[in-house]
Amino acid sequence: MAKLLGAHRDGVPCYNTSGGFLSTPLPEVLENIDAALGKGIGGIKVKVGQPDTAADLERVRAVREHLGDKVALMVDANQQWDRGQARRACRALEQFDLTWIEEPLDAYDAAGHAALAERFDTPIATGEMLTSVAEHWDLIRQGSADFVQPDAGRVGGITPFLRVMNLADHNHLSMAPHFAMEIHLHLAAAYPGPTWVEHFEWLEPLFEERLDLSDGRMLVPDRPGLGLTPSAQAEAWTVQHTTITERAG
Ligand SMILES: [Mg+2]
Repeated sequence: MAKLLGAHRDGVPCYNTSGGFLSTPLPEVLENIDAALGKGIGGIKVKVGQPDTAADLERVRAVREHLGDKVALMVDANQQWDRGQARRACRALEQFDLTWIEEPLDAYDAAGHAALAERFDTPIATGEMLTSVAEHWDLIRQGSADFVQPDAGRVGGITPFLRVMNLADHNHLSMAPHFAMEIHLHLAAAYPGPTWVEHFEWLEPLFEERLDLSDGRMLVPDRPGLGLTPSAQAEAWTVQHTTITERAG
């Protein structure tokens, strides 16, 4: 599909999120990081936003030390901070050379995100919760995101996603689509500017094929469409959860 969209590249830098949830103890996070990098994934994202920001900083410091300076590191606060907390946290996080700080504020606080993007050197990423092109335009025109994070499933599919992508490109922004790497790999490959794709293995059981990773990038499959076939498991789940009722008369 990427070629039909006018792909600019045959692979997209990818990062792992699933190894760094807040509920995962730090030693396990570090093991997950090694496993992700061993698979060919190029960057690591960990969650922040604990009630005690000092605990977040300790964790990020340990992860940065583990990774060294060369591997891209992102953090994601999932809207957990108010404006004051976010300012303090962003300032403290500047030292870790992060690729971005994601959703430091409420997803609809476009002005708050814009103020952070203006004030700090670390790029701000947001947009995964938004559900329309218009909401994304509000974010983009206010300068709220250095990395725009549309989700094709949430904005209404590939066509509205492409409209968001064009708005981001016209405003010289970077893009990092949210979740569903199976679709977003193709869309990110067609983005002219800097982009990352999120490696999440959660949807893998739905498909027969696996996306190839190499040297920090996820490679665009050259098979037709998305390059994926629904798995027998997916079909079984579909049957299992579908109830067909006959209408009388
Ligand atoms: Mg996120």
